[in-house]
Amino acid sequence: MSFPSDLEIARNASLKPLDDIASQMNLPAHLLEPYGRDLMKIDLAAIDELSDRPKAKYVVVSAITPTPLGEGKTTTTVGLGQGFKHIGKNATVAIRQPSMGPTFGIKGGAAGGGYSQVVPMELLNLHLTGDMHAVTAAHNLLAAVIDNHIYQGNELNLDLNNITWRRVLDVNDRALRNIVVGLGGKGDGVPRQTGFDITAASEVMAALALTTSLEDLRERMGRIVVGYNEDGEPVTAEQLHAAGSMAVLLREAVKPNLLQTLENTPVLVHAGPFGNIATGNSSVVADRIGVRCGDYLITEAGFGADMGAERFFNIKCRTSGLRPDAAVVVATVRALKAHSGKYKIVAGKPLPPELLAENPDDVFEGAANLRKQIENIRIHGVSPVVAINAFPDDHPSEHEAIHQIAKEMGARSAVCTNFAEGGKGAAELAQAVAEAAEEPTDFRLLYPDEASLQEKIETVATKVYGADDVHFSLHALQQLDTYEKAGFGNLPVCIAKTHLSISSDPKLKGAPTGWTLPVREVRASVGAGFVYPICGDMRTMPGLGTNPAAFRVDLDDDGAITGLS
Ligand code: ADP
Ligand code: MG
Repeated sequence: MSFPSDLEIARNASLKPLDDIASQMNLPAHLLEPYGRDLMKIDLAAIDELSDRPKAKYVVVSAITPTPLGEGKTTTTVGLGQGFKHIGKNATVAIRQPSMGPTFGIKGGAAGGGYSQVVPMELLNLHLTGDMHAVTAAHNLLAAVIDNHIYQGNELNLDLNNITWRRVLDVNDRALRNIVVGLGGKGDGVPRQTGFDITAASEVMAALALTTSLEDLRERMGRIVVGYNEDGEPVTAEQLHAAGSMAVLLREAVKPNLLQTLENTPVLVHAGPFGNIATGNSSVVADRIGVRCGDYLITEAGFGADMGAERFFNIKCRTSGLRPDAAVVVATVRALKAHSGKYKIVAGKPLPPELLAENPDDVFEGAANLRKQIENIRIHGVSPVVAINAFPDDHPSEHEAIHQIAKEMGARSAVCTNFAEGGKGAAELAQAVAEAAEEPTDFRLLYPDEASLQEKIETVATKVYGADDVHFSLHALQQLDTYEKAGFGNLPVCIAKTHLSISSDPKLKGAPTGWTLPVREVRASVGAGFVYPICGDMRTMPGLGTNPAAFRVDLDDDGAITGLS
């Protein structure tokens, strides 16, 4: 019999009433807001009310540099949460809300996989409680206010060629990347070129992920810089009188959503900022609640440890004040083989057959990436644990190779079979994580708030990416100067680069050395609370491929969803 699809497994899950899940977390009933049968929101009053409870061990799940297929961080995060039950501990899982772009595009949903999934996966992957749509609405309200401001006489003297606020939609639609608004007659607005990004790329989403309360979110909306006036000075959403309405639209979205895993582990799902140009981490408020609700809180950070984990440490933890106790680095045989530089993995295409043959030497050849990502955890003073996410085509000798690399680095490692077997397949990982979390941590931010933006970028580039140097274009230097003068210099940096290499060149595998990070442009997400240099071509509105998942999703005769993956 072939292995059942994710949707089949999810459909056969025995879900517990969410009230039971909430009582497992010791969450009092007055903090719970049911949304239908299998979803709940949690009131943010929980943050204060639970604050004197003991703090759970806080564990971030990261990975080696992934292939375009993803190496199973969400699957491991969910499986590890389930695994703790098998060693007699209570864990809560925290993940991002999936974007509908990938759900209908190539990659499919983001509920985990196999017997390590968040359920109901149909609700998780589609709409959930509407937070994405609230972000879309708040973002586009501001866009409408901007165009109306210009139409009504442009009192703030906005420079029409320097408006950075675009529109967003949670659909992969390449035709909207560049558009002209205001066409038609005089009463239809002032024509100008702009475009759409996917909702996950919205600064409102990034702010939702980093906010600490509704009041704080209101202030963040006010600080959003929409563009610059004719004198080059920033113009904010507060000046446009849009921030209050934006916060009102986000009033429900600011509350984390409660779901469960296939084995009834509590899961907090909240916010879904892009991993390239934003933090790629779920929300601070969800973690602040989850960290008071059990023995362990397992939270996922997008892409490799150079991306999501670096931002987890230097942006998310800086903002939340929470301190991690351990970090998981997910590694796969296929990705390490790809880091040997011998194989090319393309999303939507079968793996090359040569890559599937038993070959531990290839794993060793790609080991530099794993070593560097382990170091990237260690430089923040946190204990790394390597999770070897086992795939059906792997060979024991190849797992042994990964164990050996981890051992040489002094890191614990465990093979995880939780995709095929559920939580018991992650019990060994849970044990290793529990041991690592008991070790004394010496958590360190990589740079202080007071360092200059340029120094911050250089620190991340050289220490985390392994670059020799950073080259700033003249334009980038001018922008950095403008930001420092405008008072944004104390913000952390979120370097926008490819996730397919530790370097800024997606073709370079392993752990490249002897290269320079090119910074061509720098943008400021002042409302979200970071400055982001652009290092490479960043797609903020994906397109659909020739055979997108959207072609396969449908309804069966009973109205149930088919074809979601
Ligand atoms: P990430 O969060 O790192 O992007 P996911 O957990 O979403 O990765 O996994 C990527 C894809 O690989 C998903 O389709 C998932 O179902 C699949 N996958 C993950 N782990 C395994 C495994 N051990 N065996 C088979 N498929 C897996
Ligand atoms: Mg994921």
